[in-house]
Amino acid sequence: MKQSHAHKLKRHTYSNGTQVYFCTLPDCSFRSAIGLNLGKRTICWRCGKEFLMNVYSLTLAKPHCEECHVFKNEKKQRRIEPNKRDSAVLPVVSVVSTISESIGTNVVSSLKDKMTSALNQVIEYKTLEEKDDDL
Ligand SMILES: [Zn+2]
Ligand SMILES: [Zn+2]
Repeated sequence: MKQSHAHKLKRHTYSNGTQVYFCTLPDCSFRSAIGLNLGKRTICWRCGKEFLMNVYSLTLAKPHCEECHVFKNEKKQRRIEPNKRDSAVLPVVSVVSTISESIGTNVVSSLKDKMTSALNQVIEYKTLEEKDDDL
């Protein structure tokens, strides 16, 4: 077997905990310790293109190239978009954020005051109720 091809590496963990990369291509029995593959040609598991193993891709079970790397922020967005099981919640959230954007801090704090006074009234009422119960 000629070793001219770029291996398509997949991580394998032995029962003793030792991790190696092995080539998943047919007719290739390449196998080597994880760290030894740094800078080596490999085939991206996502786009199938050749790329060079870097420190990050060495941490992946199925290495992918930098072009295919999804940053954490993008991942979050992608996760929310197709996942619309809470479709009722999403509009509410956007409405709330629109409100908090359109109204100033003064309105919010006055709203807070109103709520606090309302709460106090409720507490006073409750106290009265308890007094009534005592009678
Ligand atoms: Zn190979
Ligand atoms: Zn790729």
